[in-house]
Amino acid sequence: MSGTRFLLYPQAPILNPGREPEVVVVSCPAGTIGPGPEDDRMYAVNPVAKWPPYGMQTRRNGVRYLYLPPWNGNIHPPALPDAQGHFDHLDVDSHEFQAAHLFGCVRFVLDIWEDYFGQRIEWHFGDAFEKMELVNLPEYDNGHIGYGFLEVGSNLTESGVYTLDCTNFDVIAHEVGHGIIYSVVGVPDPDKETGEYNGFHESAADLVAMVSCLHFESVMDDLLENTHGNLYMLNRLNRIAELARNEQIRIASNSLTMAAFVNGWRKEHKLSQPLTGAIFDIFVDIFHEQLLDQELISPEVEDLADQYEYDQQSQVLVQEMFDNSYAGNESGFKGALEESRDIMGGYLAETWRRLPPDHLTYQIVGDILSDVDEDYGGGKYLRIIANNFEFREIGRVTVGPQLAKLPKENHMDSSRRLTPGSTELTHGKTPAYCERMRLARRSRRSPQYAGSSKPSGR
Ligand SMILES: [Zn+2]
Repeated sequence: MSGTRFLLYPQAPILNPGREPEVVVVSCPAGTIGPGPEDDRMYAVNPVAKWPPYGMQTRRNGVRYLYLPPWNGNIHPPALPDAQGHFDHLDVDSHEFQAAHLFGCVRFVLDIWEDYFGQRIEWHFGDAFEKMELVNLPEYDNGHIGYGFLEVGSNLTESGVYTLDCTNFDVIAHEVGHGIIYSVVGVPDPDKETGEYNGFHESAADLVAMVSCLHFESVMDDLLENTHGNLYMLNRLNRIAELARNEQIRIASNSLTMAAFVNGWRKEHKLSQPLTGAIFDIFVDIFHEQLLDQELISPEVEDLADQYEYDQQSQVLVQEMFDNSYAGNESGFKGALEESRDIMGGYLAETWRRLPPDHLTYQIVGDILSDVDEDYGGGKYLRIIANNFEFREIGRVTVGPQLAKLPKENHMDSSRRLTPGSTELTHGKTPAYCERMRLARRSRRSPQYAGSSKPSGR
C-alpha cells in the first residue's frame, strides 16, 4: 500500500480501556506528509500557552475581535515521520502522538467522504487560507471548526474522568462533518435561515462520524460480534460522541419525532434527532434489505425487526432471531453491512451536494434523498425513505421558533461562521479589502519549539 500509516483510536480510549489503537492507512503517499504532521491541506500544532481559543473574542476594554490562525507562538516539538514516511511509531503518551492522531483522524474522515463525493472537498475558507490549522488545546473545554482552523480541547465527564478530544475520533469526525457541510451546502442568507438548517448541520455532523467509524475494521467486527446484526441494540454505532460535553449522549436510534418541536426548539442538537433517527432507521432498513437479498435472514425476521424497532420488550425475541441467522454467516453479514454503509455514505454525499442552504427543511432533505435513490438505486429504497420520514412526522409538523437565545458556549456558536469579511464584525459595514487580507493572510513564521514532548495532562 502506498498510503501513510497512522495509529488511531476508533473510540476515545477512556471508553475502551486497554484497547490498542488501530493502524489506519490514509491516502497521502508515504513520504509526502511532513513534520507536524503537515500535508498540502492542513497541519497540526501543539501550541504552548495559547489562549484564548480561535473565534470571536473580547478584549479587556470590551472590544470584540475575530481571532484567527496562524498560531505563531511556541509549539511543542512536531510529530516526525519514520524513515519510510509513516506516523504509527509514536509513543501514545506523547505530544507528538496527539498531533498525529488529530491529523490522522481528519485525513481519514476526509478520505472517506472525498470517496463518497467522488471529488476533493475544498475547505470553505479556501479563498483566504491555503491550509487548515489543527490545534490541540487541552485548556479549552470545547471543540470547533471555523475559518482556517479546527481546534479541539478536553472534556471532564460527569463521573470526573478527564479526556483529550484529540484522541476522540467521534468529536473530531463530527467537526470535520460540520466543515464538509459548510463546504458543500454552504451558509444560508440570514433572512432565509431556518431552525432546521441548524438541526440539519448537527445531524449531518453526527452522520459523518457514524458512517466514518464504520471504516475501522475493529468497529465493524465488534459491532457484529456484539449485536449479531441487530443494530437497534445499544451499540458503538448508535451512541454518537458519547463524550460530547454540551449534550447528554445522543443516540442515533432515538424515537423522537417532529411533534416535539411544534412549539419551538432550544438546542439544535435536540432538533437534529428526528432527522438523524430517520436516516439511521433507513440505514438499518437498507442493511436488512441487503441481508434479505442474500438470503441471510428470512422475510419473517425482517418483518419482526421492522415492527419492533423501538419496542424494547420485543427486542429479546428479535435478538434471538438475529443470533440464529448470524451463526455461520459472519462474513456475509459483514459484507452486507459494508455495502449498506457505502450506499448510505454515497446517498448522503449526493443529497448534500444538491441541497440548498436557504429555507432548508427536513422535508427537502427527504425529497432530495428520494431523488438520489431514483437516480442511483432505481428507486429501490423509496418506500423505506418515505416510511421513515413519515414516522418522524417530517413534513407534517412545522417547527416552532427558537425559544431561548443560544448560550455563549453553544456548539454552533457564531465563531464557526465568522469570516474576515463578516458584517457581524463591522456593525454591518464590509471591512476594507486590506483589513480583510490582514486578518486572513497573516503569515506563519518558523515555529519555536519549547518544553519537553510529554504532555502535562491534568
Ligand atoms: Zn456539532
